[in-house]
Amino acid sequence: VRNISKTYRRGGNALTVLENLSLSVPELEFLVLLGPSGCGKSTLLRIIDGIESCDEGQIILDGQDVTGQTGHGRGMVFQSFELFPWRTTLENVAFGLEVGGMGKNERLEAARECVDLVGLSGFENAYPHELSGGMQQRVGIARALAIKPSILLMDEPYGALDVQTRDLLQDELLNIWEREKKTVIFVTHSIEEALYLADRIILMSPRPGRIDRIIEVPFARPRRDEIKTTPDFLA
Ligand code: ATP
Ligand code: MG
Repeated sequence: VRNISKTYRRGGNALTVLENLSLSVPELEFLVLLGPSGCGKSTLLRIIDGIESCDEGQIILDGQDVTGQTGHGRGMVFQSFELFPWRTTLENVAFGLEVGGMGKNERLEAARECVDLVGLSGFENAYPHELSGGMQQRVGIARALAIKPSILLMDEPYGALDVQTRDLLQDELLNIWEREKKTVIFVTHSIEEALYLADRIILMSPRPGRIDRIIEVPFARPRRDEIKTTPDFLA
């Protein structure tokens, strides 16, 4: 992320959300972006994904300028799942491949692999309303994985789930991350979630568009019961 600036303009109002923001994410890192509501986390993630434009700066992925382009190595997972209600699990997961121009059989085969990967075998033909929230988000993750991205962008993916389901999906994600060798940028409000998942935490400032601090998590990934209170280095 190189010198990204973004100002939203509506009518006569202008709101600068990102100001000359730069960061780099090493391959296979699990990076967590933590920061208060409105600081620009979703905006930044959408710009990295290419579904949102920026005013200045570049997104460079594997040495290639991908600013303003979608696909190309990035898969996005949304807080509100964003599944097509009229499509089955398999059809939702295959969606990104359709856009990519793959043939139908090949597409469904690739989608089936990703559905297995997130533990949803047997639910290929279910519609979103027939699935629990946790299962719907597994579909969201499978859809993001289907395009074989090198980097997964996750915007508060478990924000709408109950605590037990969230914990379960966090563990599943860590497994997928290790097995499938992905780079992850994960946005959350939750300090506990950040500590459980992150290699590194970037704290965004309440003032929009600023990075407050970059924290190398100073321990190996903790067990869940080791995360109780806010540690000193985050206080
Ligand atoms: P949250 O934690 O609540 O999801 P966030 O850090 O993801 O917040 P953003 O959604 O990036 O924050 O929004 C940053 C600021 O930009 C907010 O003040 C928001 O109102 C504004 N904003 C976001 N999207 C738009 C838009 N499409 N048009 C105008 N303003 C927007
Ligand atoms: Mg957001």
